[in-house]
Formats: sequence, structure tokens, C-alpha cells
Amino acid sequence: MITLRNIHKYYHMEHHSLHVLKGINLRIDEGEMISIMGTSGSGKSTLLNILGILDSYDDGEYYLNNTLIKNLSQNQAAHYRNRFLGFVFQSFNLISFKNAMENVALPLYYQNVPRKIRNKFAMEYLDKVGLSDRAEHLPSELSGGQKQRVAIARALITNPKVILADEPTGALDSKTSLDVMQLMRDINRNNRITMIIVTHENDIANMTDRIVRIKDGCIVEQ
Ligand code: ADP
Ligand code: MG
Repeated sequence: MITLRNIHKYYHMEHHSLHVLKGINLRIDEGEMISIMGTSGSGKSTLLNILGILDSYDDGEYYLNNTLIKNLSQNQAAHYRNRFLGFVFQSFNLISFKNAMENVALPLYYQNVPRKIRNKFAMEYLDKVGLSDRAEHLPSELSGGQKQRVAIARALITNPKVILADEPTGALDSKTSLDVMQLMRDINRNNRITMIIVTHENDIANMTDRIVRIKDGCIVEQ
């Protein structure tokens, strides 16, 4: 599903550049659920942003579903993102003035799906994450765990092949974190969606099939 070959990434600043990823090699099979661990500043988010086609890289090759993801135009990048990828963030990134159903439906709005149809799908996905009774609640009326469930439903609604999650439990207490992880685990098993989860918590990482450790821009163990 995903192959990274000798990926290098630099952040270029006015007077110097920072070599953040130093030759990353990684293969992730379809249906795998992996975690990426490492200390703060080791390059985890940079790696995830490259995998999510949110950022470019300077050297190497990234293959997603046998397509070389390199030097894409904004439109091409958006095309592959919309077609293959779903995102879950630490801070949920829900729209505060839209209710749970409307937040879940949002990706379909961008695909010009008519309101009635997208809301019907949104209700189905809210049901999958156990929140059909919270459809009309605003994010401010939901707990942290419920907000993350809404975000997971939103990530699922476009039927992605890969879900990328950057510290999805970072803002949740430990019990809620395990519940959210269990939900992601179930979705991974039932739908064969590949999942890549950045975390610095061992309990979370231990729920995945494989732990990839990154240190100072290099993979040190997988
Ligand atoms: P992690 O997610 O593992 O904490 P990051 O990938 O966010 O690490 O960052 C890796 C390194 O790159 C850090 O030293 C960080 O300060 C630096 N960095 C991240 N984003 C940028 C940026 N946009 N411009 C310059 N440096 C950055
Ligand atoms: Mg990070």
C-alpha cells in the first residue's frame, strides 16, 4: 500500500536548513495498523505530513497504491488525498458552529454531494462510531472522546484506504484513549483500512500490529 525509499526532508530557513528526515525506508502493507513512536522533534509529524501529501520531500520516493507521489501539483495532491486518505488530529479540528452530523458530512460537501444524501451517509457513520444520538450536538456539547469519534467518522465517510492519525489520543484521558484506540482497531480489522498512528504512549502503540521507532530523523527499529 505504501513504500518509502530513502526519503530525505529539509526545512529551509533564511540562514540555514534543517535536515529532518535522513533516509527513511518503510513499507506498510494494505490493512496493516502501525504506530510511529519517537521523542518530540524526532520527525514524526513531518513523516506523517509527507505520507498525507500535505508536505513535499526533497529526495527519495514515496509510492502510494503503486503511484509515485512526487512533485505533484496542488490539484493532483488534492485528488490523491481525497481518493485515498483520511486524517485524524490530536485537536479534533471540528467546525465549532456545525453539529456532529454536519461535521461528519463535510468531506462530501466538498465533493458536491447533495445535502440530503450527505447527511444520510453522515448518520450512518455516526452510528458506526456509536454516536447516532449526538447528531445534533455542537462540538462544545461533546466530550473529548466523543469529539474524536466524530472526527473518525468524518475521516471514514470518503471511504479512504489509509487513515493517518497524529497523536489522536494526545488530548484524551487514558481510559478514553484506549476506547478511541479500540474503535480504530475495530475499524481497521472490519474494513481493512490501513492505519498509521503517531503516538508517544506505549499503551497506544502496543495496540497496533507494529511499532516503528524514529530517532533524530532515522528509523531505529521496526
Ligand atoms: P515530531 O512530530 O516528532 O515532534 P516534527 O516532525 O514536528 O517532530 O519536527 C521535526 C523537526 O523539524 C523539529 O526540530 C522541528 O522543530 C522542525 N520543524 C517542524 N516543522 C518545521 C517547519 N515548518 N519549519 C522549520 N522547522 C520545522
Ligand atoms: Mg508531532
